[in-house]
Amino acid sequence: MTVVVTRNPATGEELASYDAHDEAGVEAALAATYAASQVWAATSLDDRLGLLRGVGKLLTERREEYAALITAEMGKPLAEALGEVDKCAWNCEVVADLAPGWLADHEIESSASRSWLSYEPIGVVFAVMPWNFPFWQVLRFACAALAAGNAALLKHSPDVTGCALAIEELFADAGAPAGLFRSLVVAAEDVPAVSKRVVEDPRIAAVTLTGSERAGSSIASIAGAAIKKSVLELGGSDPFVVLADADVPLAAATAVKARFTNTGQSCVCAKRFVVHEDVADEFLEHFVAHVALLEVSPMAREDLRAGLLRQVEESVAQGARLVTGGHAIDGPGWHVEPTVLADVEPGMTAFDEETFGPVAAIARARDDDHAVELANATTFGLGASVWGEPSHALEVGRRVRSGALFVNAMVASDPRLPFGGIGRSGYGRELSAEGVREFTNVRTMVVA
Ligand code: NDP
Repeated sequence: MTVVVTRNPATGEELASYDAHDEAGVEAALAATYAASQVWAATSLDDRLGLLRGVGKLLTERREEYAALITAEMGKPLAEALGEVDKCAWNCEVVADLAPGWLADHEIESSASRSWLSYEPIGVVFAVMPWNFPFWQVLRFACAALAAGNAALLKHSPDVTGCALAIEELFADAGAPAGLFRSLVVAAEDVPAVSKRVVEDPRIAAVTLTGSERAGSSIASIAGAAIKKSVLELGGSDPFVVLADADVPLAAATAVKARFTNTGQSCVCAKRFVVHEDVADEFLEHFVAHVALLEVSPMAREDLRAGLLRQVEESVAQGARLVTGGHAIDGPGWHVEPTVLADVEPGMTAFDEETFGPVAAIARARDDDHAVELANATTFGLGASVWGEPSHALEVGRRVRSGALFVNAMVASDPRLPFGGIGRSGYGRELSAEGVREFTNVRTMVVA
């Protein structure tokens, strides 16, 4: 039997070990979720949303327990883990309140006596999820999938297997029919083969993946070959643009939060700071002052830390200026000094690649056109944040390519607003009406 071991990133010590599902276990999970999807599709929307309210209530009751598990498995500060659990509970409430509108028949006038769109369940949604927000990423897709009348099968990151099993239990405890939400435990070396086997299984209707381009491309290719829909939420190298008329102290304070939250391990963390040269020195001074106050928490895995430090070394060798940080912190666990690189330009690793950890890359722009050019000099397109006099910042922001634009605010997800990217950040949307409808058969209905 293959075993999956979880480790505490703050100490490197083993937390727990779990038996991975073998082929019989995978088959049983597929059979159970498929059977549940048939029952659930015929369950009233009211009852489905009642389950989500119950899940939200349990999340609130158990917030300390779940937050401690998140922190133990992937290393984020406890306060942020509590915030993650609370956001999941909020998402349950929002979906329960708003899904009746999102899923209501949409009347369209035509030459028929009545024509409309009906949003109908599609079956079992297979989700491949990462470790960075182990509860949020899962609840985000699961609430949408279940509200729409589908069942959910999760392949979580092995690093957060405890969270994966806790979420399975959460749905069961809230009264979900057996099999409606199942977690597969798969050892890292078996992930590509097991994922392929599951995606190709006729009982799976659609796939959603949050993670790296590599994983997304692999899963989406298999889904494409099997003619199944996929939603991909991949990486980002979000620009945070500070114009000459920005409130620089506020922009800098927010920029540090936008970069270093979750120890920099979020797809929508601001990663490239594009600052007008008139305010660049002032911005850097405020930015570094805030960075000095950060409490350091570990990165999720040792290999991820090594990769990040390689990106910093390469960037410095390419001419970036190391303002602060840049090294691993000695001692147990996978800590890194919060790092600021200035004078970063296209062609340098920290500009061209996603940096998934506590490293800020700051670039100078000569004027607005140059700022737009720098912001767009990426293959990604998740979020963009632009700071300045509001109408000016909006005008500049419209020229930046992204799935979301935030003016004078950091990019953040909100259950009421769609979330997703363009380019190599992926496709499809999560959250809100768009997210729920991704997992439906948008059925055209015509009565002559
Ligand atoms: P991965 O993309 O490898 O992991 C995310 C999920 O995908 C995990 O469940 C993983 O399982 C799975 N996965 C990986 N390869 C395959 C495959 N071929 N077929 C099916 N599933 C697969 O991310 P990492 O943890 O390795 O992090 C690497 C980088 O990915 C980060 O530095 C960051 O750039 C990006 N990332 C982006 C995230 C986001 O929020 N958009 C979240 C996490 C990472 P397993 O771990 O077993 O391989």
